[in-house]
Amino acid sequence: MIEFIDVEKKYPNGMVALQHINLSIDDGEFVAVIGLSGAGKSTLIRCINRMHDISSGKLIVDEIEVAKLKGKEIRNFRRKIGMIFQSFNLVTRTSVIHNVLVSFVPELPFWRKVLGAYTKDQKRKALTALDQVGILDKAYERVDQLSGGQQQRVALARTLAQNPAIMLADEPVASLDPVTARQVMDDFKKINQRMKMTVIMNIHHVELALEYADRIIGIRKGEVVFDGSTKDVNQNV
Ligand code: ADP
Ligand code: ADP
Repeated sequence: MIEFIDVEKKYPNGMVALQHINLSIDDGEFVAVIGLSGAGKSTLIRCINRMHDISSGKLIVDEIEVAKLKGKEIRNFRRKIGMIFQSFNLVTRTSVIHNVLVSFVPELPFWRKVLGAYTKDQKRKALTALDQVGILDKAYERVDQLSGGQQQRVALARTLAQNPAIMLADEPVASLDPVTARQVMDDFKKINQRMKMTVIMNIHHVELALEYADRIIGIRKGEVVFDGSTKDVNQNV
C-alpha cells in the first residue's frame, strides 16, 4: 500500500510542485494520474521511488517511510518498484535480450560483470519477461530495429524481469501512435490483472485513462482535484 500524508514537494528554486497531497493506493490498483502539463504528475510519481525527495509530510510505501531510507536501502527499495518512462532508455546497437539482462547487472559479482556473463536463471527470467509482453520472437534482434511500441515493451520486460510489486509509468505511451499506444496499454492491463501488480501511470490521454485504469486521480497546480473510480467518471459524462 502507498500512502501520502499531507505531502509537499518544493524544488530548490522555490517551485511548490505538490501540496496537501493525501492519497492511499491499495495493492493491485490500476491508477491513472491525469492533469495538464506542469500540474505535478511527474513529481508525484517520482516521489514514490524516491527519485525526488518530499519536502514535508509523510510518504509510506509498504510500511516503509520512504524519506528514512539510506544508501543501500534505497537501492533495494527501488528494485521493488519498476519505472517506465516516455523515452525507452534502451541500450542501442545491441540485442533485445541484452537490454533485459542489463537489469541484472547490479546483482552480478564483479567477475561476471567484466565478462558480461549472466546466469542461466537470469536468461530464463529475461526470456519469460519478453514472452509476457509478446515479443519473445524478437529476443535476438537489434533493439534499435524495432518499432516504438516494441521498444517500450522491451523496457517493460526489463522492468518485469525484476519482479517488482509496483509499476510506475511516466507518460509511457505519449510518444507512440494511437494503435501502438493501445497495445502497450493492453500490456499494462495484463501486468495489472494477471500478475497482480499495482500500476500507477501518468497519462495525458484522458480517453485512454478512462478505458484502462480503475481509478483516476486528477492533479491541478500541485493539488489533487479529483479522485474516484473510473466507473463513476464514466457514469457522469
Ligand atoms: P507534469 O508531470 O504534470 O507535467 P511536473 O511534475 O513535471 O508536472 O512539474 C510540476 C511543476 O514543477 C512544473 O511547474 C515544473 O516546471 C516544475 N518542476 C519540475 N521539475 C522541476 C525541477 N527539477 N526544478 C524546478 N521545478 C521543477
Ligand atoms: P518529463 O515530462 O519527461 O518528465 P520534463 O521536460 O518535464 O520531462 O522535465 C525534464 C527534466 O527537467 C526533469 O528532470 C525535471 O525535473 C526537470 N525540470 C522540469 N521543469 C523544470 C523547471 N522549471 N526547472 C528546473 N528543472 C525542471
